[in-house]
Formats: sequence, C-alpha cells, structure tokens
Amino acid sequence: EGIVIAIDGPSGSGKSSTAKGVARARELRYLDTGAMYRAMTWWMLDQGIDVDDADSVAEASSRPVITMGTDPAAPTVDVDGTDVAAAIRTQEVTGSVSAVSAVPAVRERLVALQRETIARACREAAGIVVEGRDITTVVAPDAPVKIFLTASAEARANRRSKEVDTDDIAATQADLARRDLLDSTRSDSPLTQTEDALELETSNLTLDEVIAIVVKLADE
Ligand code: C5P
Repeated sequence: EGIVIAIDGPSGSGKSSTAKGVARARELRYLDTGAMYRAMTWWMLDQGIDVDDADSVAEASSRPVITMGTDPAAPTVDVDGTDVAAAIRTQEVTGSVSAVSAVPAVRERLVALQRETIARACREAAGIVVEGRDITTVVAPDAPVKIFLTASAEARANRRSKEVDTDDIAATQADLARRDLLDSTRSDSPLTQTEDALELETSNLTLDEVIAIVVKLADE
C-alpha cells in the first residue's frame, strides 16, 4: 500500500517545486493536476471551442485523451499523443484555464483520472505526491499527509516571475491576483482550505527547507 502526499495552494506558493522535490527524495510518483486542467484548456483552444461557453466546454470535455507521465525527474503531459508540456504554459492557456476548470464536467472527468493515477501509483510504486487546488479536499481527502502551502503575494509574484522569465513583477502579481479571484469566487471553489491540512507559510523558507519539512511529515 503506497503513501499519498496531497499538496494544495495558490499559484506561486511553491507547490510544483516542493511536490517534485519530495517525490524525488522519497522515490514516489508525481502528479501536477494543474497541468491536466491546462492540457484540457489547450485542447479546447486548439479545437476552436469557445471557452466562455460552459455548455460547449462540458460537451467537448470527454474527447481529449490526456496522459500524464509521473516520473518526478521528467514529468510529461500528452494530449491525443502530442507532447503539450510547453504549449500549456502560454499566456493564452493561463488566461483561459480558470474558465475551463470551473465547468463541473471537466472537474468530474479530471478528478476521476487523478484518482486512477493515484491508485496505480499505490499499486505499482511506493506512492505519489499530488499537487493542485482540491487534492486535500476532493481528490484525496483520506491522504495521510495533507499540506496547504501559502506565501505572501510578493513572494509568489517573485517566484512566478522567475519561472516565466519576466522582470514585470507587478504584472505577474496582478495576474496571480486575477486568477486567485476567479479560482476562489466560484461556488464549487477548489481553493478552500481543509481543517486538517497542515498550513505551511513558505515566504521565508528555502525550497530545501520546505521539502525537508514535508519529507519529515511523511516519515512520521
Ligand atoms: O497549478 P496551476 O497554476 O498550473 O493551475 C492552473 C489552473 O488550473 C488554476 O488556476 C485553476 O484554475 C486550475 N486548477 C484547478 N484544480 C486543480 C489544479 C488546478 O481548478 N486541482
């Protein structure tokens, strides 16, 4: 029986780096659920589907075949056999992902896929680190390790600016604030904290420090 480590938090909180680092340290699989919502969004845009039309998005959502490679050293994202790892990080996808991920049919399908991936990692490997917005609450509420990462708006904007290689930290901070609002104001918001997830404020911690804290929790 493998271990499941669930990590939630807003963009720029350090989720991806932390989750990958913990998975490598503990030799676990790794799943980036944000990449799955981005892959679904990339496909909708590629098909010319109006992402603001929830009915069209819902109807089309069963069609793309999304395949996630869960090696933390080289995670992959494929849609219908095409590698979309770079394509899902564009401004166009980032600007539309909140609308697509708000559609219940999209969430149902991706949550089912996420649970299958978790079950397989627990059968075939020592377990998995899963990161997203609703992992501790919806996808894997029974995970033995549940963490909610936070960081100040400034720290998050600084980190995200480095990731996307821009000097315009103010614009990055505005974009993060816009997505936070879109992600948190819908009725079924996944960006809600569980009572039993451990909140970890990372603004003044290094990545290695955060990884060490999570690894220690998993060892307990
Ligand atoms: O983690 P990342 O910033 O790549 O996530 C992109 C978007 O995917 C989020 O802004 C959110 O709209 C959506 N998402 C979600 N549920 C998850 C993970 C991501 O709705 N579990």
